[in-house]
Amino acid sequence: MTWHVAEEDLRAYAQGELAPPLLWSADTHLVACARCRAVLAEVGDPVGLDAGWERLDAELDAPRPRLFESLLLRLGVADHTARLLAATPVLRRSWLGAVAAVLVMSVAAAHTTQATAAPTLFLALAPLLPLAGVALSYGPALDPTYEMAVVAPVHGFRLLMIRTVAVLVAGLGLNGLATLALPGFGLHALAWLLPALALTATGLALTARLGPVLAPSLVGGAWVALLLAARAQGAGTLVPFTAAGQGVAAAVAALAGGLLFLVRDRFDRFQGSAV
Ligand SMILES: [Zn+2]
Repeated sequence: MTWHVAEEDLRAYAQGELAPPLLWSADTHLVACARCRAVLAEVGDPVGLDAGWERLDAELDAPRPRLFESLLLRLGVADHTARLLAATPVLRRSWLGAVAAVLVMSVAAAHTTQATAAPTLFLALAPLLPLAGVALSYGPALDPTYEMAVVAPVHGFRLLMIRTVAVLVAGLGLNGLATLALPGFGLHALAWLLPALALTATGLALTARLGPVLAPSLVGGAWVALLLAARAQGAGTLVPFTAAGQGVAAAVAALAGGLLFLVRDRFDRFQGSAV
């Protein structure tokens, strides 16, 4: 081992002031390096460090829907994976509540404008929700299990996939329920599904290069720009929700999925670059 955490970084780390990606490197490195742990113990303010662990303990021990966790266990999910999922912040009630509210509003809007061929606002918003959920589930700012994730030897990519699948299932499930509330539109109301998969996969694939904030923002912005451009072209069903648009969405989803698989190592290096 040739690299060690600089002493000033360890001081900042102990005070909880070290920012990613240095924080991730330090976290990962400290697990494996006794020498740096010793330096940390010397320079560090142990209160700050203890506070970090206490915060993590409190988060993990906080009462949360046991139902969800035991359901996952019953489905055959390994118990540490179930724990990570149950503590995923976007799966908490606040996020699900916000998603449900947006869906209810857009469904209501669709019902009041029955004149058009498709529930445009609902179709426009629905693909953004899984993208936002996955983006929010990846990053230290919102994630109480983040510290556990860097301390525990869970592969960055594996963790990302576990989170993504969980958030996608929750998001797509809610979107699906909203679709059931729009029976008048028939299959038209399902036209959000392929765009949702395309946006989420593209956002994740770009995250490896652009980071967890810029990538989903760009993808979301591009989606909105595309819809506005399609709307400017004329009335009727917007291009992304036509048969051709759906085919393009499926192709983009498949391409981005393949790209994501190719760059999967980057997510591990994200966390393990210093070891
Ligand atoms: Zn070291």
